[in-house]
This record gives sequence, structure tokens and C-alpha cells, in this order.
Amino acid sequence: RKIGYAVVGLGRYAELIMSKFAECEHSRLVALVSGTPEKLEKFGTQYNIHKTHRYSYANFDTIRDNPDIDVVYVILPNSMHAEYVVRAAKAGKHVMCEKPMAVSVAECETMIAACRAAKRKLMIGYRSRFQPHNMLAIQLAQSGFVGPTRIITSEHGFDAKPNQWRLDRPLSGGGSLMDIGIYSLNAARYLAGENPVEVSAIESTDRSDPRFRTVEDRISFLLRFPSGIEATCVSSYSSNHNAYRVIGTKGWIELEPATSYEGQKMRINRDGRTEPRDPPAGKAQHAAQLDHLAECIFDDKQPLVAGEEGLADMRVIEAIYRSAREGQRVRLV
Ligand code: NAD
Repeated sequence: RKIGYAVVGLGRYAELIMSKFAECEHSRLVALVSGTPEKLEKFGTQYNIHKTHRYSYANFDTIRDNPDIDVVYVILPNSMHAEYVVRAAKAGKHVMCEKPMAVSVAECETMIAACRAAKRKLMIGYRSRFQPHNMLAIQLAQSGFVGPTRIITSEHGFDAKPNQWRLDRPLSGGGSLMDIGIYSLNAARYLAGENPVEVSAIESTDRSDPRFRTVEDRISFLLRFPSGIEATCVSSYSSNHNAYRVIGTKGWIELEPATSYEGQKMRINRDGRTEPRDPPAGKAQHAAQLDHLAECIFDDKQPLVAGEEGLADMRVIEAIYRSAREGQRVRLV
């Protein structure tokens, strides 16, 4: 049988996700949750979702009575993740939650505890971990293909459009770091294969730009890892970046674009020669992500990117903000 997903929040990313169930082997879309009846009607018709499987936020908790729903996929603004993850777990459902997992370490801990108490899986939407070029980069970096890793550079940013919840701190929890810089951080962690022990950061925000009244624009940060790896990371809401490079003693591995929805390109430099490289063809990242949670439910396994991964990023995010605010290095223990 296929695992049944309910998608909560029918915005832009949810639209993309809903279209990806067609590529899944073990997952199917069975229910929708939205505050907008027109969206429930539109997507309900498009994806053949029965009227009894269309929910509002007000009657969300009655999903507990619907055995077709195995997983709730939370694709809401960041500050709403914690509430809906906890309510989904209390309704006895497994949970997929979008990145950033929440807006604070404390919320992440509450979400993990709620899913543990309900004996349900919690996975974070870190789709790049299922993207073939990224999977190959991790394998090559950690097997020493370009020598032991010394430096990682990771840059993510885009020019943010005005008037959206991402620029409203109560809904977003922060600026570019929460939204796009988290890809720089998460990639540095998965490429290094360890957690940073020290962080230093600087923030540059033009507060006269109406987009940045409550959230930051640019924040650059340096991560120091226990093995001696250093990562130099960029997060921006006013310039376009999507790339990383793992630099070892014998060369480097580069992805650009690195964490986009598609179109990844890899180049490898080893012993003075640079060549493009393609990974073996694999399942596309979104379907692989959705099916991974389904397989974890079937086999009772911990997801590769469980709540603890979201929490690990959030601990570093809080340290990055603190370092930028206080103008000094922050140690993570
Ligand atoms: P969006 O604005 O397109 O969608 C947000 C949805 O939440 C909308 O349907 C909106 O109606 C609904 N909503 C409910 N209550 C709301 C409120 N009080 N204010 C605003 N909207 C409210 O945003 P999005 O780009 O789809 O992002 C949603 C989540 O998905 C975010 O957490 C974001 O970080 C994440 N995301 C992840 C990826 C990825 O590649 N993994 C890509 C894009 C977005």
C-alpha cells in the first residue's frame, strides 16, 4: 500500500510538492488543509481529493479520525510549523515539516518531544539530501576523493520580493538566514559530516530598504568544525547565489547550482585537472524525499533528516544571530 499524505498550507511550495506525488512509488496525496475554500476546491478537483478529505485550520484536528492520512506535510510560514507539527502528532500522524523546522531551538525541542510521545516519525524537508549530485558530493567529500577537506564555501541568496510573510519577523522568525542561508549552513554540515563547534558572523542590512524593516538581508558566517574544517558561508536576500565548493588538499568538488529544484552541475578538480561529473541517474529529489519517509514508516526506521537535524541547524542559527549581534565568536558545545 502507499502512504497517504495530507498537505497543510496550499501556497507556492505546496503546489510544487503536490505535483510530485505522481513520481512517487510509496506515497500518495490523500488530503488537503487550507484556510481558503477556493484553494481546497481548486486543488481538490485537480488531485481528485474527496470532499471528506478537505480540511480547514478550524477542523484540522479531526484528521485523527481519517485512517487514510498517515503523514501530515506542514508547508506553512515558519512560525506556524511548531503548532501544526504538534497538533499532527497529537492526532496520531507522522509528520514531514518544511525547513526551517521552526523559529527557535525551544520550538524544535517541543516538536521532537511531541512526535516521540506520540511514537510518530518526524522528518524535515531537507530535499537536497535526496538529490543525486548532492549525494555524490557528500560521498566524495567524506571519502577523501580530493584529499581531506580543509575549506567549504557555501553561498545561497536571492533578491527578495517585497510584501511577503518572509519579510515579516513574526511569521518568518528571521530574514535570509532562516529561509535561504539555511541551505549554506545545512550543506556545510552535511559535506563536513560533523557539527560546528564555533561560529562567527557579520550582518549587513540596509534598514532604509522597506523589505528589511524587521528581518536581516545579508549575514555571512564562518563555521569551525572539530576536524579542523572551516566553512565560509553566505546568506543573502539581495543577491543571487546557489553554489558550494569543498576544497581538499588535492583539489575541489563544486556544485553550481547546488541546491536548486533542478539543473545541478558538478565539477571536480583533482591533481590540477578540472572535469564535469554527473552522478548515476537516481530518483528525483522531491519524490525521493516523500518516499523516504514512507519507507521509514514501513520499516520503522529513523529518517535520514529527522527532527534532530532541524534542531542541529537551529542551534547554529541561534549562535549565528548571537555572534552577529554581539560582534564576537560563539562557541557551540
Ligand atoms: P507561500 O507564501 O507560497 O505559502 C504559504 C501558505 O501558508 C499559503 O498558502 C498561505 O495561505 C498559508 N498561510 C496560512 N496562514 C498564513 C498566515 N498567517 N500568513 C501567511 N500565509 C499563511 O510560502 P512557501 O514558499 O510555500 O513557503 C512555505 C514553507 O515552505 C516555508 O516554511 C518555506 O521555508 C518552505 N519552503 C521550502 C522550500 C524547499 O525547497 N524545501 C521551498 C520553498 C518554501
